[in-house]
Amino acid sequence: MNYKQVQINTATPEKARSRVMIIYTGGTFGMAHDASGVLVPFDFALILQHLPTLRNLYLELTVISFINPIDSSNVQPEHWQTIAKIIYENYAEHDGFVVLHGTDTMAFTASALSFMLQGLTKPVIITGAQLPISEPRSDARENLITSLEIAAARIDGKAVVPEVCIYFGDELLRGNRSKKTESMHFDAFQSENYPPLAKAGVKIEYNESAIHQPSGHEQLQFLQRLDTSISILKLFPGITRSTVEAITNSAGLKAIVLETYGSGNAPTTAWFIDLLKGAIHRGIIVLNISQCPGGMVVQGRYETSKVLQEIGVISGGDMTTEAALTKLMVLIGEYGLAETKIKIGKSIVGELTD
Ligand code: ASP
Repeated sequence: MNYKQVQINTATPEKARSRVMIIYTGGTFGMAHDASGVLVPFDFALILQHLPTLRNLYLELTVISFINPIDSSNVQPEHWQTIAKIIYENYAEHDGFVVLHGTDTMAFTASALSFMLQGLTKPVIITGAQLPISEPRSDARENLITSLEIAAARIDGKAVVPEVCIYFGDELLRGNRSKKTESMHFDAFQSENYPPLAKAGVKIEYNESAIHQPSGHEQLQFLQRLDTSISILKLFPGITRSTVEAITNSAGLKAIVLETYGSGNAPTTAWFIDLLKGAIHRGIIVLNISQCPGGMVVQGRYETSKVLQEIGVISGGDMTTEAALTKLMVLIGEYGLAETKIKIGKSIVGELTD
């Protein structure tokens, strides 16, 4: 991935109070009208011209922008590797990181980064906008300024939010608990199963008891190997045998995120159970994640999930599909299938309620 780097000291001539890195990847956020009126990505090195109020934050900013900013629908695991590597390599010199990203796949990126960068003691805040920064009513300005404040916030030298988060529409959410739930309004993300880590009103009110507190012995680890031999199988009434077969029998498959109903229920039809059983027998991990954004999978609560438990489907608890998918990619990539089976159902970075 090609990117360029500029240094902007918004505090000059005074001393900056924190050093924050902004990584601009693309999305609606950075669009501006060109001479002919068409929306094109703007040159992020000129951010101070678009947002002169940044000077009031007294930050030393390192701005990294992708040479070819992307719509986040084009995001691939290689982009996660690039973003995580930039953060890892620049970790010591910065107090926090803000990643500007399209909203469409932001929850996947946030989840992936949380598993790839373990042992974080500094904030990684991902944000974007529903309206380009060039629009008068854009949410880009507030989202960026508050994200920078959160990325820079420290008490007694320690980061207030040492986690990968999404800041959007005045709420700070744990990244691997977030989902995009809205494409028109400004509050685009929700975290049904975990409370917001902060709310930004007149003041930024942090929910301390919900924020991860590092032990003090953390060492940042960069888990960079990702295995994408994973599929999502979303159930619906009327799903055919050939659709399920196409997934369970696909070449090289290592894991399936099975999107079930309610508290983890699925049809008990013999052909369906046999296909899953066969896949599990061949070593494929089948992970049960509910289609409901709130609540959790409890295998065995109903007859229709007891059978899943019996054939070896693993419960994903209250994980989001985004967290489940990226966690499988990282765990299988780093540790292989046997260890992934042990680790997948347990919380690693606060992505599920143990
Ligand atoms: N399609 C855009 C993207 O995700 C939407 C956005 O930025 O909000 O990149």
